[in-house]
Amino acid sequence: MKAIVKEKKAKGAVVYKDVPFPEINDDEVLIKIKAAGICGTDIHIYNDEFPYWPPVILGHEFSGVIEKTGKNIKRFKPGDRVTSEPQQKVCGICRYCRQGLIHLCSSKRSPGWGMDGAMAEYIKIPDGLLHLLPPNISFLEGAVIEPASTVTHALIERASIRFGDFVVIAGPGPAGLIAAQVARACGASDVVLSGISEDLSYRFKVAGQLGIKNVFNVDRQDLSEYVMNATGGYGADIFMDCSGSEAAINQAIDICAKNGKIIAFGLTGKKSVGIGWDEAITKELNIIPSMSSTYNSWIYTFGLLKAGKLDLKKIISNIMPMSEYMRAFNMIMEKKGLKFILVPDSEYQGQRTNQI
Ligand SMILES: [Zn+2]
Ligand SMILES: [Zn+2]
Repeated sequence: MKAIVKEKKAKGAVVYKDVPFPEINDDEVLIKIKAAGICGTDIHIYNDEFPYWPPVILGHEFSGVIEKTGKNIKRFKPGDRVTSEPQQKVCGICRYCRQGLIHLCSSKRSPGWGMDGAMAEYIKIPDGLLHLLPPNISFLEGAVIEPASTVTHALIERASIRFGDFVVIAGPGPAGLIAAQVARACGASDVVLSGISEDLSYRFKVAGQLGIKNVFNVDRQDLSEYVMNATGGYGADIFMDCSGSEAAINQAIDICAKNGKIIAFGLTGKKSVGIGWDEAITKELNIIPSMSSTYNSWIYTFGLLKAGKLDLKKIISNIMPMSEYMRAFNMIMEKKGLKFILVPDSEYQGQRTNQI
């Protein structure tokens, strides 16, 4: 079968090539891939900035149809439409596994970096990580459920967002646009989405389509002044950084109310960043880093989808055949578009995009 493979430890070194067909064991299912999302992590692996075990097929955000099931599989059958959590090879005995925090297990290997991933015609996945796609959710949307679940993990599980919270989200990329919808669904009194001038032409327009009216261009407007005025001088209850920008992170410390929460979500790509530590101390800020997703966060995502509170369709900007992965990777590195979905060439039926 055809797959997008990171061949060796080096910058780049990704090729589209023929690889052996995956063989399933008794506890696995074979899935025919219908859609595979490109994540920032895939780009980091392309650029040699994230751990990986080559040669490895990229991609951990996907949906597909079960083609074949192992002998022990009872819950699923061929023809089922599915997506999957990524946390594989967790040890089951360490402190984190036993606390239900399997995403923190040191043995964890996920598709796309620790084992063969979804940018291929087929993938094999163990039963315990699979979820059925609701009938009204398309394969394209199904490929965005994993990234959406990293957002519900951050806002609902990690930061315990509350009804009436004033929420600022920095960075109107796919995560930021999902976060704005999740915050609204969780009863935020205000959701303010901040970005930069580059975001005006596309990302802010998608925000508008999603009904996120409070968008701020920090290159032109004073976000801090707006938040302070809107909160009677107190500041935001939650500031979620989806941008990974040092400027935004420092602004979070200024903009948050005392005892407010800063969710550290966007990776900066740097070893360290300078932040106003003393101000964070004197304001008793809660700094909450958040990574990956958990079973519960997937359930929250499915709940939001079922309630019609989460539009994942509009987050998808580009749909391309897998053979054109390099064009997609380059566009993402140039910060064009939003969520890119790759479709196996054999399944691809003409490019569709969320045109504005
Ligand atoms: Zn991802
Ligand atoms: Zn473990």
